[in-house]
Amino acid sequence: MFNPKRVIFEEAALNYEKGQELLKLFKNQDVEIKYSKNGRITGIPGKTDKEMFLEGKSTLVVGVRKKLDFQSCKPSAHYQLPLVSGCMGMCEYCYLNTQMGKKPYIKIHVNTDEILEKAGKYIEERKPDITIFEGAATSDPIPVEAYTGALKDAIEYFGANDKSLFRFVTKFTEVDSLLNAKHNGRTTIRFSININEAIRKYEHKSEDFQGRIAAAKKVSDAGYPIGFIIAPVFLDEGYEEKYYDMLKYTKSIMDNNNIMFEVISHRFTKRAKENILKVFPKTTLPMEEELRKFKYGQFGYGKYIYTNEEMKNYKEFFTKSISELWSKENINYII
Ligand code: SF4
Repeated sequence: MFNPKRVIFEEAALNYEKGQELLKLFKNQDVEIKYSKNGRITGIPGKTDKEMFLEGKSTLVVGVRKKLDFQSCKPSAHYQLPLVSGCMGMCEYCYLNTQMGKKPYIKIHVNTDEILEKAGKYIEERKPDITIFEGAATSDPIPVEAYTGALKDAIEYFGANDKSLFRFVTKFTEVDSLLNAKHNGRTTIRFSININEAIRKYEHKSEDFQGRIAAAKKVSDAGYPIGFIIAPVFLDEGYEEKYYDMLKYTKSIMDNNNIMFEVISHRFTKRAKENILKVFPKTTLPMEEELRKFKYGQFGYGKYIYTNEEMKNYKEFFTKSISELWSKENINYII
């Protein structure tokens, strides 16, 4: 659970019951409280890139989502559901590091009802087709769920609408409040997993592998469709054995054969590398361009991926291992 060092309330949020409840809650804690009149977030300290990053990651903003238009979320969903932005985790390779600015604060919204109402309009527009919403496009929503209950509300909202589906992904484990939600099988919860060696080195403040599997088991037992994203996979010497052990452990705990796997090898862009080095100057992430193959990207951002030979072996290894423990049909993609 996210325990912020400071909480900034947008004044408009205090017009909502949820905003008042949260103000009361944080006033009773040893937390710095600030207010923002016009929605501009100021007052987060920090001089160096690292300080700004750490202070941003320790700040919770309680706001109102005014702009109700949703961003598209291709190819995995139709729309992003804007419940939360930012994440308390500090994964060195986080995709948010290039998107959230220098002070990546975590923002929650007190007007979940209005956000879901807007989702309802999008569903109506696309009928009779089904509309899929992604709840973790710009965040990991689990660590702030205890404050908002927004995921549970969304799960029940989509659970009651047979023209919608909902999905989100997490590296955290506080799922108990979701177990009795009326999801009707319409929400897929995906867990992003990795070997503990990678989690310890790079995924600071997130939960360990066994904890994530235990949480996945709980939501699976509660009837949710589930999936695993294995990412990023590092093709270091002897990686096969480590990842095979990880898969075997997963199989031993999960008695659900209906699990979808997405497997993503490590890759980086020049821009991401620059950002990572500013905040984590001593990172041990493997980011030597000369050891990788450059792949031109859609928007001018080329990526450095593993070489053809490495990718071929890696794809064969994961295809064989997942097929052996589950089946080939459980593989969504391996890239
Ligand atoms: Fe980013 Fe996910 Fe790590 Fe949070 S848990 S820092 S969203 S990669």
